[in-house]
Amino acid sequence: MYFIDPHIHMVSRTTNDYQAMRAAGIVAVIEPAFWLGQARTEASSFKDYFSTLVGWERFRASQFGIKHYCTIGLNSKEANNEALAEKVMELLPLFAAKEGVVAIGEIGYDDQTPAEDKYFRLQIELALKFHLPIMVHTPHRDKKNGTIRSMNVLKEHGVSPNMVVIDHNNEETAKCVLDNGYWAAFTIYPNTKMGNERMADVVKQYGSERIIVDSSADWGVSDPLSVPKTAALMLEKGISREDVHLTCYQNALTAYSQSGQMNESDWSNEMTIQQDSLFEGNSILRGQESQDITFNNIIKN
Ligand SMILES: [Zn+2]
Repeated sequence: MYFIDPHIHMVSRTTNDYQAMRAAGIVAVIEPAFWLGQARTEASSFKDYFSTLVGWERFRASQFGIKHYCTIGLNSKEANNEALAEKVMELLPLFAAKEGVVAIGEIGYDDQTPAEDKYFRLQIELALKFHLPIMVHTPHRDKKNGTIRSMNVLKEHGVSPNMVVIDHNNEETAKCVLDNGYWAAFTIYPNTKMGNERMADVVKQYGSERIIVDSSADWGVSDPLSVPKTAALMLEKGISREDVHLTCYQNALTAYSQSGQMNESDWSNEMTIQQDSLFEGNSILRGQESQDITFNNIIKN
């Protein structure tokens, strides 16, 4: 079975992760622009970060047989530095139209401050202008209110729910997000919040329509294999192969392919990578012999 992890921060992950992910069947990832664990102080740091997402990281993933896409946005935490936020807003249109950018995101609320609200709304307008889907980060504190507020604001701006993935849901928010017609993504963190046992229960309760599983793996305690592990557990618990396929592959593809930047044909053919390929003069090799590696991604879920 093949999988897509539609929310993972690969700049924080190792080459071992890429190899393990590919071996577990992950053929494509989406890397949302987010914060780096500490606040940036210059707009040029954002510029270089966005360039990495559309450049080096995309190349690095490809060298391990994984198609890499990203979302571009100003995260809610750093929206609170308004002087910097203004400058980042000027950068966003330069990156939103780049190859492999499948959404504006992850945007939304953290502490639900007036500045967060301002930049959430400005970025919703940016997504509408570029005809891109939106990836919404729901707050970890006061989640239910933050989620409802996000949906109200999206509605106010006239965004079609099928163009929005609301992420980091839990049992408290799932029903209202689905009832309002949005894609509902669930982040599977090991040992906490949404574990994969609870995810299987959510799919049992709500079915597979518009539900998406992701890892949100980053620099914190997280698991880049959350999607394939959750899929295995769901199958073990008697959830159908079709429902696993939808929640761990197809729904993310359907939602983000609305950008026009992500197609199954990007990875579904046989592909051979040459390890000595260069990106701006650099390869992933560190003195090793170059090998050609062929990945056979014939999708027959
Ligand atoms: Zn994230």
